[in-house]
Amino acid sequence: MAQAFRSTRVLTEHGLTPATLVVENGRLAEVLEGTGGFAGNVHDFGDAMLLPGLVDSHVHINEPGRTEWEGFWTATQAAAAGGVTTLVDMPLNCMPETVDVEALEAKRAAAHRKAWVDWAAWGGVVRGNAESLKPLIQAGVPGFKCFLIYSGIDGFAWVDEPDLRAALGELRGTGLPLLAHAEVAGPVNDATEKLNSSDANWRKYANYLASRPDEAEIEAITLLVRLAEEFNTPIHIVHLSSALALPLLSDARKRGVPITVETCTQYLHFCAEAIPDGATEFKCAPPIRGRANCEALWKALADGVIDFVATDHSPCPPAMKRREEGRWDLAWGGIASLGLALPILWTGMRQRGLPLERIAKWMAAGPARLAGFEGKKGALVPAADADFVVFDPDSQRTVAAGDLHFRHKISPYLGVELRGRVRETWLRGEPVFRNGEFVGEPRGHELVRL
Ligand SMILES: [Zn+2]
Repeated sequence: MAQAFRSTRVLTEHGLTPATLVVENGRLAEVLEGTGGFAGNVHDFGDAMLLPGLVDSHVHINEPGRTEWEGFWTATQAAAAGGVTTLVDMPLNCMPETVDVEALEAKRAAAHRKAWVDWAAWGGVVRGNAESLKPLIQAGVPGFKCFLIYSGIDGFAWVDEPDLRAALGELRGTGLPLLAHAEVAGPVNDATEKLNSSDANWRKYANYLASRPDEAEIEAITLLVRLAEEFNTPIHIVHLSSALALPLLSDARKRGVPITVETCTQYLHFCAEAIPDGATEFKCAPPIRGRANCEALWKALADGVIDFVATDHSPCPPAMKRREEGRWDLAWGGIASLGLALPILWTGMRQRGLPLERIAKWMAAGPARLAGFEGKKGALVPAADADFVVFDPDSQRTVAAGDLHFRHKISPYLGVELRGRVRETWLRGEPVFRNGEFVGEPRGHELVRL
């Protein structure tokens, strides 16, 4: 039977507006203008703000194999508490890495009855696995991820141009994107050697930053633009950090090259000048750069050069952050933030006078489109899944461990003041998180692209 949800502030395709969401069998049957017009079972949210369920296309769930780092249960609860109704999992840090169908099946088995929100799994492109890509496509992955530099995981080998050519040959014509960690090793190795030969103090953040120079991103993106153009096959740059690479990307797009780019919440919220020495909870790669770089990323996001924002939520057990030593060269890289992205972004948007409506593209429709879930996830439009979030944009708080629902309560956002709070999250027409509590049983399922 149909039911409806209405509010005077629903973020639809027409902006924030009074609307009524008519839901049948977990899907939006209709999106009606105004709050009248539906006679029947109506849930009235009054003036509360309803946003589309968010999509995070860059998350490391780490299960199976490294469930002590994170897992389906904790990651999807963190997502639900943050208004994220779809996660797309990265193919590494889990064991086995998702580089063939057998590994994908192991992930599916691991997720069984543990997912509180919907999820999908990127496949992996690693050295020598080109023949595994077509079977993974047939099994339903929405695209693939690769590294152009050592990934930190021995089982996920980085690729160079010949491997990329082999992979793009397999992907050409499928419409599926190749996602790339865009740093090359040369400039990173050179800079690191130089620092080591001058006995650099590895507790200093400035030395970590110097060890991952902008050139590593620029060289990688130059190569990826060239290959996307030659193969006419979509390539997506994950976690762009260097604003110096932006002109390459905007020029390529003007020429019609199928290349897209995300940045992450940590590059928009933090800047190098404010990171304390030894504070390895801020370690990620590419690194968080300076304040001017951060503002340039915001401008590129506002101008549409950057397509959307993801978290790159990538946690590890606390001991691996080696916080006592505080050595940036030895600590595991990866920032945990799943569940906080909406208030993080909204806090920065308010400071810069950006309208809340833009959240719809930056955190929902944009990442949904990359994964091929446009029209099904990330927008309040007819035929989409009835995923929505009740968001209070004016709420203010200092992030405490109790706000973190992922496995290890370590995050650079602890103690940070944020604006906005998720009150409720609804997945396919039913509540999954409400007023601080998870509701019912895990109902999330896998989304496949076939
Ligand atoms: Zn990542």
